[in-house]
Amino acid sequence: MKNFDYLEPTTVAEACALLKQHRGEAKIFAGGAHLTILMKQGLYQPKALINIKKIPELRGITFDSAAGLTIGALVTHREIETSALVREKFPVLCEAEREVANIRVRNMGTIGGNLASGEPLTDPSTIFIALDGKLKIADPAGASIVPIEKLFVDFYTTSLAEDEILTHVVLPPLPPRSGIEYIRFSSSSVVDKPCAGVAVRFTLEANGESIHAARVVLGCVGATPVRARKAEALLTGTRITSELAAQAGVLASQECSPTSDLRGSEQYKRAIVGVLVKRAAITAYDRAKSF
Ligand SMILES: Cc1cc2nc3c(=O)[nH]c(=O)nc-3n(C[C@H](O)[C@H](O)[C@H](O)COP(=O)(O)OP(=O)(O)OC[C@H]3O[C@@H](n4cnc5c(N)ncnc54)[C@H](O)[C@@H]3O)c2cc1C
Repeated sequence: MKNFDYLEPTTVAEACALLKQHRGEAKIFAGGAHLTILMKQGLYQPKALINIKKIPELRGITFDSAAGLTIGALVTHREIETSALVREKFPVLCEAEREVANIRVRNMGTIGGNLASGEPLTDPSTIFIALDGKLKIADPAGASIVPIEKLFVDFYTTSLAEDEILTHVVLPPLPPRSGIEYIRFSSSSVVDKPCAGVAVRFTLEANGESIHAARVVLGCVGATPVRARKAEALLTGTRITSELAAQAGVLASQECSPTSDLRGSEQYKRAIVGVLVKRAAITAYDRAKSF
């Protein structure tokens, strides 16, 4: 590793000012689970590392009935997994976090780093998009809120500018009669990154039967998570049956762009997506009916 300056701001404003000062030559360092590997491999050679761990405002998980659940960027996978508040409001997220990597990575890795790395083989982004989550982003001029869907641009590429810091994830409360399911499939071992991950969310009409709004999000089967909009359109206005869920799976499997790699061939991953969408749709529908 090459030498670098090591900076420890204690406020978001200070961190943004440092990013501006070192524009293009500094990297935010959160848990380091992703960054350390790339630096050791020589793929990143920043002249400065800005460790944000001493910024208290980036920590904590809170809930407000209007805004929903707010998760600070420095909250680790393990903290989400074990949070009683997250389990009460979005149990699907706790379940998914329990399957992320291994306990060491979950203790190190932060949710901000997970999203900001733009790494395609991740779990939380798929769920956040299904939940219509938002990101709070700070820059030297102030702060903004963007849909999480807009963050992902390409492999390891996000829409974050060089002087921007992701500060919080905000998940709005689920509307009444809503249900969500996330299923990830890992082909080789339990600690492997996922081969595919699917989140399906439904909100039902007042009759409690037909689907008012559907979200089908496919993760790890392309450069970025994607919404399977044809599958969403097929399901909207219907009542889920096993056949319909299977048809949505077939449509969704054509709406992603998996590549063949050690986790499976393109064809295999498409088949997995079809099965996961079917299963997730049936569970999400059952949950929406009993919400
Ligand atoms: C062996 C292994 C297995 C894994 N398995 C999974 C898995 O199964 N599922 C899954 O979802 N993920 C998995 N991951 C990914 C892991 O979750 C992420 O690497 C981790 O969460 C990154 O967080 P971090 O805090 O360590 O980020 P860092 O390594 O500190 O930073 C990552 C990147 O994000 C930037 N960054 C960090 N925080 C911010 C911020 N607040 N604002 C702006 N930019 C920021 C950094 O500059 C850097 O470019 C795995 C990783 C490893 C190493």
